[in-house]
Amino acid sequence: MRNTDVLIIGAGAVGCSIARELTKYQVRVLVVEKKEDVGGDASKANSAIIHTGYDASPDTLESQLVVAANPMYDKLTKDLDVPFSRIGGILPAINQEQYEKLPALKEKAFKNRVYDVEYLSGKELLKMEPNLNPETKAGLYIPRESIIDPFLLVVGYAENAQQNGADFLLGTEVTGIHKEQGKITAVETTAGEISCKWVVNAAGLHCDEIAAMVGKNDYTVNPRKGQFYVLDKNTSCKVEHIILPIPTKVTKGKLMCPTIHGNMLVGPTAEDLSDKEDRSTDAAGLKSVAEDVRHLIPNVNLRDTITQYSGLRPNRNPEGLHVDTYDDLKNYVNLSGVRSTGLTASASLGKYVAQTLLKLGMPAEMNPDFNPVRKGIVRFRELTREQQDQMIQKNPLYGRVICRCETITEGEIVAAIHSPIPARSMDAVKRRVRAGLGRCQGGFCGPRVLEILAREMGVSAEEINKNDKGSYMIAGKVR
Ligand SMILES: Cc1cc2nc3c(=O)[nH]c(=O)nc-3n(C[C@H](O)[C@H](O)[C@H](O)COP(=O)(O)OP(=O)(O)OC[C@H]3O[C@@H](n4cnc5c(N)ncnc54)[C@H](O)[C@@H]3O)c2cc1C
Repeated sequence: MRNTDVLIIGAGAVGCSIARELTKYQVRVLVVEKKEDVGGDASKANSAIIHTGYDASPDTLESQLVVAANPMYDKLTKDLDVPFSRIGGILPAINQEQYEKLPALKEKAFKNRVYDVEYLSGKELLKMEPNLNPETKAGLYIPRESIIDPFLLVVGYAENAQQNGADFLLGTEVTGIHKEQGKITAVETTAGEISCKWVVNAAGLHCDEIAAMVGKNDYTVNPRKGQFYVLDKNTSCKVEHIILPIPTKVTKGKLMCPTIHGNMLVGPTAEDLSDKEDRSTDAAGLKSVAEDVRHLIPNVNLRDTITQYSGLRPNRNPEGLHVDTYDDLKNYVNLSGVRSTGLTASASLGKYVAQTLLKLGMPAEMNPDFNPVRKGIVRFRELTREQQDQMIQKNPLYGRVICRCETITEGEIVAAIHSPIPARSMDAVKRRVRAGLGRCQGGFCGPRVLEILAREMGVSAEEINKNDKGSYMIAGKVR
């Protein structure tokens, strides 16, 4: 039987961050993930903002974790080679009712110790962001609200964890958990039983199902869907900051912001569902995004949409971010309610869960060989002409541009396929190097990426998946 010290269920941002943090200690770490790739569920379909926590409910674990996490990202993203930018957020008050809410929002930010939030006049805000609604009366400026590449954050955590000794068992679902005398002894998976000393439930949307396996399901999770538009990089109306609406109790609201790669992101909705697999977008949801965002940015040009997507927040009932341990189950950590800020909180959650495991008896000896640095795949488009020439001389595959929209070379795609956690599907390549994320959404480069994947993996094109097992790109020959 396979065995490990700490078994983490789920390879989203949170599970992978925990895995990386645990490799700083002398323990064996195994991440079990039911999908074929790291990247999670919510972790790959969100707003990609690293929040400051200015609007969190004060004195909650979520506010502590988000506020603590934000400053970590300067070093973390350098270490893991993840694109990140502190572009700042703007919260404009457009009508009198919103204007009257500003003092309370600022006070809340101060309660959360986000002291750099500034009150600015409408005039100042319009100078900073000319496309804001001209009726903006005043607003808050939140300088450390930031944007990140969420795909590469997860891949960065995971690859660095792996380089430091963690193992990843992908395409493997946890189906049961064995307990004996108040302790978990083994985890049942679709790849057999794995014995372990500690278990961490970081299964996101499905954390309640894992909790039920050990009788700790005193809560449920329902998906709260968020739908988005992604606009072309050349859209006629752009913003340079994260433009946030005045938040409500249910949601942070629908925003507009640049992505780290220069597109405009508009959304999300907040729709409570019961189906954990419903990742559809629909006209009604997108219409509500359009209507709300036009209050903030009247000239937003949604005709420049290149794609739409949705993500599911794991909404906990009763609400709240929890990291639970149990007196009658000594070697189990249950995470739940990692809902709207979990991408941000992943950095601090990694440390928080490591500390929790130490309290549960995990050995505290540090790993003297831990290396925090992970080098990502070269981003050819960001190199100078001379550097590009040098790359092509060393490896001619960098001279063949496969994705014209994003200028992604064959060299980068091949590097992704042979990276420490290899990209084995179209989506896995897309998330690592952006081939297919541009204006044509893979219409042009898709068949070429497929061919490269098949060649490098030594399989036929018919065997290449879009993402999970069986999601074949090619069904067969027509003639
Ligand atoms: C619309 C939207 C917008 C958001 N915007 C932001 C934002 O701007 N900033 C921010 O900080 N946060 C944001 N979030 C929240 C953030 O995305 C999530 O909180 C975070 O990604 C949760 O990460 P996770 O690792 O806990 O879960 P996930 O990413 O869902 O990962 C859980 C993993 O567990 C695996 N799993 C489940 N069950 C099993 C099983 N039985 N066996 C094996 N594996 C299993 C799943 O396959 C999945 O890969 C947003 C979320 C949404 C949906």
